[in-house]
Amino acid sequence: MYRPSPLVRAYFLEKKLGTPAKIYYKFEGNNTSGSHKLNSAIAQAYYAKKQGLKGVTTETGAGQWGTALSMACSYFDLDCKVFMVKVSYEQKPFRREVMRTYGASVTPSPSTTTNIGKAILEKHPGTTGSLGCAISEAVEVAVGTEGYRYVLGSVLNQVLLHQSVIGLETKAALDKLGEKADIIIGCAGGGSNLGGLISPFMGEKLRGEADYRIIAVEPASCPSLTRGVYAYDFCDTGMVCPLAKMYTLGSDFIPSANHAGGLRYHGMSSILSQLYDDGLMEARSVKQTDVFEAAEMFARVEGILPAPESSHAIRAAIDEALKCKETGEEKTIVFGLTGTGYFDMVAYEKFHDGDMNDYIPTDAELAEYAAKLPKVD
Ligand SMILES: *Cc1c(COP(=O)(O)O)cnc(C)c1O
Repeated sequence: MYRPSPLVRAYFLEKKLGTPAKIYYKFEGNNTSGSHKLNSAIAQAYYAKKQGLKGVTTETGAGQWGTALSMACSYFDLDCKVFMVKVSYEQKPFRREVMRTYGASVTPSPSTTTNIGKAILEKHPGTTGSLGCAISEAVEVAVGTEGYRYVLGSVLNQVLLHQSVIGLETKAALDKLGEKADIIIGCAGGGSNLGGLISPFMGEKLRGEADYRIIAVEPASCPSLTRGVYAYDFCDTGMVCPLAKMYTLGSDFIPSANHAGGLRYHGMSSILSQLYDDGLMEARSVKQTDVFEAAEMFARVEGILPAPESSHAIRAAIDEALKCKETGEEKTIVFGLTGTGYFDMVAYEKFHDGDMNDYIPTDAELAEYAAKLPKVD
């Protein structure tokens, strides 16, 4: 229904920047869920149906994953139980309503429908919830309900595999145009869109067939690759999922309020972590206000209203194009535009009103979390 997604030459952005670089973006926001997450949601719902399951459970923070999974489940006639972090449930009622339109049940977390939810509410009455707590509730329901499984929308290897459709299509389109990318850029939360986008290019790089500069962009408020530790850690705050070796800030690291909800994850996909540790990929972090400046410039010249998460990649693409302007190099830059920002207008409002902050954790804060990493021999 929505594939292939378009690979667009950003002529108007190039002109605005006055750069000799060619800029392309692969746009994943052309589906109702508004992001690339549908690519993995469809695959996971398909296999769940094939396995004979009745339904799946999951958690959602910002809401993109829950929305994507609701759409996929409705298509395959599967039940979908979403635990949505209470603060987003209250702040983003329209996301919740999209999920209900596709037939999902959406429960604000912590809830009184699970034991863990009740225990958390007893200990912290009035809490607005967290992703870790929502994961724990979703897992409890999956384990205790026959025919149900818990599914995750990023980080894990199978999710990167599903997202490789982004890279395969990008490669096919570039080949058709006779273009060769020099720099490939993506935002990185759990690493699924970037992992998918770079997959065929990294394959060529590893086999020595071609070389690319690959750049992961993360928020300065949640800098897992650029300032994290490469170690075994829990994938979730609830410490119920298996340990993974990855760049991490520690599973109980709570990033400061940041409007790119999809990038507020403490760790990073094991595959991307290994590639980064092997020096095959670069990483940089960017400040929130710089990200929204790039988002707004992009919206005004290219027309698409980008998601805050995606705008991290826009920021880095603009910065690389401006470097080309200085050096006169005609590089080809490709970046992943993961989604649209229609449900993020409170963030845009804060930016426009000058109320957006750029909190960056101190080394001492990060060291405190790193000291609490699980001890593994
Ligand atoms: C979830 C999300 C991301 C980050 O997740 P990854 O797994 O790192 O790709 C980026 N952009 C959008 C629009 C998202 O919804």
